[in-house]
Amino acid sequence: MKRVYLDYTATTPLDPEVFEAMKPYFLEKFGNPSSIHQFGQEVKVALEESRLSVASIINAVPGEITFTASGTESNNFALKGSAERLRKKGKTHIVTSPIEHHAVLEPCEYLRNHGFSVSYCEVDEWGKVSVDEVQRHLRDDTGLISVMHANNEVGTINSIAEIGLLAHERGILFHTDAVQTFGKLSIDTQTMNIDLLSISSHKIYGPKGIGALYIRRGTDVESLLHGGGQERGRRAGTEAVPLIIGFGKAAEIMKKRFEKDALHLTTIKQYLLSQLEELTAGSDFLLINGHPTESLPNIVNVSLNSKKIQIDSDALLLNMDLGGVAVTSGSACTSGSMEPSHVLLAMKRDEQTAKATLRFSFGRSTSHEDIDFAVSIFRSVIKRIGKMV
Ligand code: PLP
Repeated sequence: MKRVYLDYTATTPLDPEVFEAMKPYFLEKFGNPSSIHQFGQEVKVALEESRLSVASIINAVPGEITFTASGTESNNFALKGSAERLRKKGKTHIVTSPIEHHAVLEPCEYLRNHGFSVSYCEVDEWGKVSVDEVQRHLRDDTGLISVMHANNEVGTINSIAEIGLLAHERGILFHTDAVQTFGKLSIDTQTMNIDLLSISSHKIYGPKGIGALYIRRGTDVESLLHGGGQERGRRAGTEAVPLIIGFGKAAEIMKKRFEKDALHLTTIKQYLLSQLEELTAGSDFLLINGHPTESLPNIVNVSLNSKKIQIDSDALLLNMDLGGVAVTSGSACTSGSMEPSHVLLAMKRDEQTAKATLRFSFGRSTSHEDIDFAVSIFRSVIKRIGKMV
């Protein structure tokens, strides 16, 4: 049976070239990078090359990159690690947004239960956080602002440089979750005034289980893991060498392919949007979620408007999958639960419409034929289980 994968936002397949680069570090190059002997030192050199490869993409220096086990850990590290230091300065207020990934929302909730107060900026109908809205929430005790670069469900891009500037003018730390933008948009930690930035390898054709946190030089962050002095004392534990090598290689390939990938994704997105327009044939039962222009080139998120069409939202996703199309209803981490997406609710979609949502996300190997197939399955599912009202 034909199957099409359109869930690249959840994860990407490992690039075979990345796999080849990793292989020796599972077998012959097995040394511990902390060891003084040659087995250790040759690995240490490779590890530092990977750090440089990642750093160079965001205009950082290698010493500002700390490898973690995931984007989730990077977010936890950024928020909890900096909060502990800010607490000592009496800066116990955090500003964030309701459309953040759970890997930001949950640490914020944790901090709220541990002596911090958290303000959530409202977003507009596209899911965008405005600079004015961030400014409105600032207080004398605000120590940290965390606003994601682009949203993982609807793809809307935030004005990170402006929010970063606002933070820096007030002496406030600025963190951004760039897990979905690393490799899709250009990121410059200097001109964008970013102090802390989270990224993850498995979204860029690298291995799972490895991420990184950019920590601007001089930024005070407390370690979450204590033990040996690895990662310049910021994260104890023997480094996941093969994964770090893979992340470095994936970043290197991404840098080379940046323009080509961007063009491909934009072309596919335009094609999918045009096919969906054809599908609705002038009727407005389909709503496109996310900003019409300021959004990621690899995401199309659509809802079936509850005022125009009745559809069982669980059956929708299931039938797409049975038809061979792998999409999701929201972020991968929350699918499986019956809750409507917190992002769509923040954008003021009604609950029923929010539940009847599909996110199509595509990557390097997505073809026009894949889109044709996905749209034809979507059309037949709507016809079978949808009822116009
Ligand atoms: N932040 C965003 C915006 C994401 O999309 C994801 C994963 O989907 C994460 C954080 C978590 O990253 P990881 O899967 O590496 O823990």
